[in-house]
Amino acid sequence: MFRIGHHFLGGVLACLLLLALADAAPAQGLSDATRGVPLPGKGPRAYVNLIIDDLPNLDLWGQLADDADAFGMKTTLALNTAKATPADYAAMAARVAKGHEIANHTRDHVPVAPSGVIKLRFFSPQAKSAYAAVDSQAKILRIIVDDNPKPLAELDLAENGRYPTLRQLTDALNNVRGVAAELGDPYYANIQSRFLAERDKTDIFFKNAFAPLFVDIPAHARYEIQGADEDISAAMPGYTVKSMVFPFLVSDAASRQVTSELGLTCGRVGTAGNAALGAPGGYDLYRIYAVKPRDAFGADPASPQFAAKVASFLKKIKEVGGVLCLYSHGPDEFTNEQWKALLPLLAADKEIAYVTLGELGDFVRKIAVLRDGKYYLPQAK
Ligand SMILES: [Zn+2]
Repeated sequence: MFRIGHHFLGGVLACLLLLALADAAPAQGLSDATRGVPLPGKGPRAYVNLIIDDLPNLDLWGQLADDADAFGMKTTLALNTAKATPADYAAMAARVAKGHEIANHTRDHVPVAPSGVIKLRFFSPQAKSAYAAVDSQAKILRIIVDDNPKPLAELDLAENGRYPTLRQLTDALNNVRGVAAELGDPYYANIQSRFLAERDKTDIFFKNAFAPLFVDIPAHARYEIQGADEDISAAMPGYTVKSMVFPFLVSDAASRQVTSELGLTCGRVGTAGNAALGAPGGYDLYRIYAVKPRDAFGADPASPQFAAKVASFLKKIKEVGGVLCLYSHGPDEFTNEQWKALLPLLAADKEIAYVTLGELGDFVRKIAVLRDGKYYLPQAK
């Protein structure tokens, strides 16, 4: 009897434990760290921004925006401006007129907080030392070997010079005898060479290892973000960009500071961002959470799991005071047909507001209190 009772009790405990674990398990697409409280007031229980990244996905976004209109949902396009044409802006303006949003995604689609952008080394059995010197005033990168007053190479970093981008500069460096260079990350290819950070002496005398060169992050971020703002204002007179979408989900304190100084009122990162306005640690409006529907719900909207995951996600974000984004790129990630199947599932929840990224920011500033750079719900004080 005792043994049976023991087993029975054990079974109950196991069930309770499982229930507790199930309760604690995060909804799809939200991290374990997502804790929060429901939003105060009588308004929507969560705010979600649907957003498509990158100029090449303009057509997909335009269709999504048109499809979203049927449900009264607003969407955002994260626009990298360098290659946008007047026809592109005409397509954007038609959606903007219906309440959709164009967000700043930099001019050249480059990370605004890159780490070592170029990895560099020099070696020759005849030499004893080598260093790289970035003269940001003169816009020249010099390679100095054995402290020879005549540099082994002088590379032009100017905006309209011979090697305006890091891709071109890296290629040129590899043509210097004894030098090997590579980009710190392929995404750094379009960063402008003139933003390399001033540095008198970077030791590059290595047979195998590399030394990193860095960019002046605030100056570079300012150029890229301000540049995109100017491009958009010029092409769409009267339109004010409110939101920043950090390319490749990368930002740091310096680039977020520049974003704020330039008058952009919120910024989006990725799954490392803030998902819950009611989080105990506060909500940083320049680090708004974003997850891909494909990652959160799967790729088959016809499957029962897909609808179940959407429902679980929406339930969870209502519980924690969710203020966040669902984002995707082109049809290779999530097609217009997939979005078309997702929209009614989202719209069916009348307690959730589907708004632009800028409107997410407006809502947070209206309802929460700013303290030490983060927003807190009033009752969390
Ligand atoms: Zn992008």
